[in-house]
Amino acid sequence: MPKPVIWTVDDDPDVLRAVERDLRRHYGDRYRVMAADSGASALAGVEQLKLRNEPVALFLVDQRMPRMSGVEFLEKALKLFPDAKRALLTAYADTDAAIRAINQVSIDHYLMKPWDPPEERLYGIVDDLLDDWQASYHPVVEGIRVVGHRWSPTAMEIRDFLGRNFLPYQWLDVEKDEAADQLVTSSKVECSSLPLVVFPDGSFLSKPTPAMVADKLGLRTRAEQPFYDLLVVGAGPAGLAAAVYGGADGLRTLLIEREAPGGQAGRSSRIENYLGFPTGLSGFDLARRAVAQARRFGVEILAPQEVAGVKVEGPSRVIRLSDGSEVAGRAVIITTGIAFRRLEVPGLDRLQGAGVHYYAPMSEAFSYRDGDIYIIGGANSAGQAAMYFSRFARQVTMVVRGDSLSATMSQYLETQIGTTPNIAVRLNSNVVEVRGSAHCEELVIENGKAGERQTVPASALLIYAGAVPRTEWLAGVVERDSLGYIISGQHLVQREHRRPRGWTADRDPFYLETSVPGIFAVGDIRSGSVKRVASAVGEGSMAVQFVHKILAGGGAYG
Ligand SMILES: Cc1cc2nc3c(=O)[nH]c(=O)nc-3n(C[C@H](O)[C@H](O)[C@H](O)COP(=O)(O)OP(=O)(O)OC[C@H]3O[C@@H](n4cnc5c(N)ncnc54)[C@H](O)[C@@H]3O)c2cc1C
Repeated sequence: MPKPVIWTVDDDPDVLRAVERDLRRHYGDRYRVMAADSGASALAGVEQLKLRNEPVALFLVDQRMPRMSGVEFLEKALKLFPDAKRALLTAYADTDAAIRAINQVSIDHYLMKPWDPPEERLYGIVDDLLDDWQASYHPVVEGIRVVGHRWSPTAMEIRDFLGRNFLPYQWLDVEKDEAADQLVTSSKVECSSLPLVVFPDGSFLSKPTPAMVADKLGLRTRAEQPFYDLLVVGAGPAGLAAAVYGGADGLRTLLIEREAPGGQAGRSSRIENYLGFPTGLSGFDLARRAVAQARRFGVEILAPQEVAGVKVEGPSRVIRLSDGSEVAGRAVIITTGIAFRRLEVPGLDRLQGAGVHYYAPMSEAFSYRDGDIYIIGGANSAGQAAMYFSRFARQVTMVVRGDSLSATMSQYLETQIGTTPNIAVRLNSNVVEVRGSAHCEELVIENGKAGERQTVPASALLIYAGAVPRTEWLAGVVERDSLGYIISGQHLVQREHRRPRGWTADRDPFYLETSVPGIFAVGDIRSGSVKRVASAVGEGSMAVQFVHKILAGGGAYG
């Protein structure tokens, strides 16, 4: 925690030196004493303190300074630190000005120069001011601050990125928080260049991408080695499990994740059916624990970093990253899961991030406190979201295409939903339009069975409408089914009653192995897999056993 600051400003160098010396001697162990010889240079320093989130306890300022008087300086500085105590240093002849200033900037005191001896004429007054300040001072939140508009999709993206990467931050809404205004003033960033991300050292980025924030925070996006035993692509449950088993077994393992560890499960507010957690656990906690476990076993994690291609070079499997760099390994496990399916509904794309969210971050729940939330989808993910958001919202309404929940949702969740008073379910229904100028305000819902359309006010629309694999980057390398899922193991042989085309090993593909020896596919991305956390974790750990077999055979790629 940084020491609170006492600022002293005086254009007379002798006086400035003397005040600084006296203040340091008496308060230096508890406060940082800063000095400036003009209002302008002091203001520049004050702005820096604001950006670094360091508190100012007291301004002790000369009234009669050329260019900017003490009162003028205080008027500006107090906009950034309104709670700081303020005292004017005045000569006898300026007493009237000091008294006027009591009203103008509500100064707490004025001190007559010279104040010698300080024990009698300075410290007593400053002690009182600092005691008062301490009594109402709330220590500042340390860490990253994000300043922006509540409905800004870019701000939403940054907050989601920070949250999912386990990076604590403070959100400041420019329309509501005074501190947000102060940071915008200090950084001199135009409102049109928000969001502003302010780092603990006082530096900041305006309108950054997640990659720029990651870079600034020194998140690892480049591999340390050119070659690994095992490369794992994707850090959902399957990838995290593969990495933990690989690392635990002593394999040099690199895990590469496009967004943030946790995958789809990381979006789950409460996973209740994962073995060993009778009261459930959030996907965020599962991911956080798994990342700690992987790191403990020496796994290197690159995030955010996207894999853009894979190729075979003799016994090596080479991965191309989206920044153009390459990294090689003896085996690759692909666990890239599935990505949400985009809906084609008028108004929806325009308001995405402004009240409309695909797989909404849980942190958004507070933003919609007492609001009316609509959820599209009837599967477990939608049900979990309904349960979670119902704790904050006035009313949650699930809009479900089918005529019951039982076909798509686990029974435990259906029961919970049925007994939660502020959750309603509209069956046989679709959202056909989203309306709002700057954010979601209204929805048009169509009931296909009744042949009716209704317009309803809505604070938010959360979408859990299924997901699709994104495997274009594997085209021409590994075999995929008609939907884009990766085919593995015996399915490859059964399809054409022979080993896959181009297969080089002198054996059939291992279970979970793709049409390229040494490249495995596990979890949701694998054709025919069970789309569950436990099965993804199980497959991730199993695949490492086959990697061992390959490595024991010296590569065994034929
Ligand atoms: C909201 C929600 C709630 C759920 N609740 C439950 C539940 O309660 N119980 C249950 O059993 N299951 C639940 N599921 C399903 C479960 O989360 C998934 O089956 C599981 O996450 C699949 O794990 P995975 O590792 O195979 O894939 P994913 O979880 O999809 O992870 C894939 C990862 O790969 C990354 N990636 C993708 N492409 C690339 C690339 N090119 N380069 C680098 N990284 C890439 C993605 O960013 C992602 O992090 C839920 C799903 C959702 C969405």
